[in-house]
Amino acid sequence: MQNENSSCTANGPVVVERPDQPERPDKPEEACGVYAVLAAGQPVANLTYFGLYALQHRGQESAGIAVFDAENKVRLHKDMGLVSQVFDQAMLERMPGDLAIGHNRYSTTGSSKVCNAQPVVLMTRSGPFALSHNGNLVNATELREEMADIASELTSTTDSELIAFALQSAVNGGLDWDQAIRQAAGRCRGAFSLVIGTPEGLFALRDGHGIRPLVFGHMGELDQAQWVVSSETCGLDIIGASFDDDVKPGEIIHFRQGDSTPSRSEWCLEPHKLCVFEMIYFARPDSRFFGESLYSYRVRIGETLARETPVDADIVIGVPDSGIPAAIGYSQFSGIPFADGLIKNRYVGRTFIQPTQAMREAGIRVKLNPLPDVLSGKRVVVIDDSIVRGTTSRKLVAALRDAGATAVHMRISSPPVTHPCFYGIDTDTQDQLIAARLTLEEIAAHLGVDSLAYLSKQGMVDAAKANSNNFCSACFDGAYPIEMEEAVRSSKLMLEPAGIAATL
Ligand code: SF4
Repeated sequence: MQNENSSCTANGPVVVERPDQPERPDKPEEACGVYAVLAAGQPVANLTYFGLYALQHRGQESAGIAVFDAENKVRLHKDMGLVSQVFDQAMLERMPGDLAIGHNRYSTTGSSKVCNAQPVVLMTRSGPFALSHNGNLVNATELREEMADIASELTSTTDSELIAFALQSAVNGGLDWDQAIRQAAGRCRGAFSLVIGTPEGLFALRDGHGIRPLVFGHMGELDQAQWVVSSETCGLDIIGASFDDDVKPGEIIHFRQGDSTPSRSEWCLEPHKLCVFEMIYFARPDSRFFGESLYSYRVRIGETLARETPVDADIVIGVPDSGIPAAIGYSQFSGIPFADGLIKNRYVGRTFIQPTQAMREAGIRVKLNPLPDVLSGKRVVVIDDSIVRGTTSRKLVAALRDAGATAVHMRISSPPVTHPCFYGIDTDTQDQLIAARLTLEEIAAHLGVDSLAYLSKQGMVDAAKANSNNFCSACFDGAYPIEMEEAVRSSKLMLEPAGIAATL
């Protein structure tokens, strides 16, 4: 879901400027979570609240819920902030109904605006609909040009709204909901996992490559099933819903009230290309992909990393939280004991007031604090899931040495990030990616480690219980599965990468 960072055109948008953004997060950032519940007689707004709460890691800047009542009137509430800040019980009680659509959003840079929050709710001649989107279109400029005649009606700067207007136009042109959604999706190129509430029930679909995940499940007995769609299975677990299946890449599913099975069909056919970074880092470790938790996958890539890049050391530590499972795997395979060497403050959110550069230089450590009792006099293997710009890793290595580590061997449970993402993940431009600029030896010297090694691309995909061709790994190899407009490519790619990227 793209934020072009220009002004919103809605009446009186609330603009929350970040007054001091001294340091961008040194990790790729997830861009959205989507959620929907179709359950007559249930508190669907509350259930959606819990689902969004489970998906909070996918977006922390805004949250929204739209609820259809029995007369298909839609109540919408969305605002800036975490789910728990945007909604309270009184608000949820004012949103009774049978069908709810929810969304968590993370925007890219600059201003965050409530007019870009989702779901998007629009009216058509067949009634209202509410749409939530996870992903990013690569033909948004083209779509915006095609829709020049309705430019004054656009209230946000997101590509998600363009999908919604394409759907509105298809319905108003006389198509039924199913046909209209297919037509609107056919105009879009890029990554999109969508949930769409309509007067005729709930639709869920993924783009043909299935770049972003989407799953569904049910509550209650199947003959009176109540349906739940979520970006990840952790959103089903939190409300006690059973997992039924993935929404397949290129599939559209129509859930109707009271149906014991949903209608499933393909709307397009492309090679499957799930974002492999979802497996390594973005999705929650308790979410299940390909029949197992990501915790198990991440332990396995740690084992692979130990096999591929062994080193003599006294302890293995992980960078919390996402580096811990791979550190456990590294320890299990190598026989080097695992230890907790870094303590994380879990309450540092996106809205936290960041220390200034001078404060950071004076030694303020907001997120991670090393444990000298564990690290002192030890040769340490430290496992992290990725290195993007290297700024955080460099400080981390210095902190480990300050705490008494006699050697620091860094192992990364993914290949070098050499290319930016265009499909819904906020990554830096290529010139900011350390592995696009420096060789392995230069990165090791920059970070100040005794040794540095990355997981191989083969090791990364082979560890998944899926066909290794079924992943997008473009940020590690530049093999983008979806063609982009030249202006989109050149907005983030360098002409001549000089580091590891040049040798791939
Ligand atoms: S480019 Fe990277 S982050 Fe983006 S979808 Fe592909 S693997 Fe995921």
